[in-house]
Amino acid sequence: MANYNPNLAKINRNYTFEELAEVFGVHKNTVSAWVKNGLPCLKEKRPFLILGIEARLFLQNQRLDKKQKCKPSELFCMRCKAPTKPAENYVEYLPLSATKGRLTGFCSSCECVVNKFISNADLERYSALFDLTKPKELEHINDSDNPLLNSDFKK
Ligand SMILES: [Zn+2]
Repeated sequence: MANYNPNLAKINRNYTFEELAEVFGVHKNTVSAWVKNGLPCLKEKRPFLILGIEARLFLQNQRLDKKQKCKPSELFCMRCKAPTKPAENYVEYLPLSATKGRLTGFCSSCECVVNKFISNADLERYSALFDLTKPKELEHINDSDNPLLNSDFKK
């Protein structure tokens, strides 16, 4: 998806699909696709209207989504500039603080080191995805009261 400037949508305006398409220089079908993907629109009467503020928020979120390209089972490789699976699906957990830590493995494509920052609260779920080793002293720690850091699992 192209990178649209969310600020082109005026927050105090309503747009029909055609008008919004014109604002962003896209086809009307693209706007329909946005609506299908979660852009709210007013369907009480025709033509359907989209609030400028909603369009702006929607496109801002899409931008954010684009930045977080890694799936939970992937780590980002700086060398390949792409999300990658760790070699042998093996990662090691290195605690950085009481609540956060780093998964480290090797890129399955180029074998350089890949990292992913996670919260302790997510550790159990990552153990299900990866062949994960962690320091012995962490085995019994339960940090499930830290839901704010579960970024990869929120969706
Ligand atoms: Zn790589």
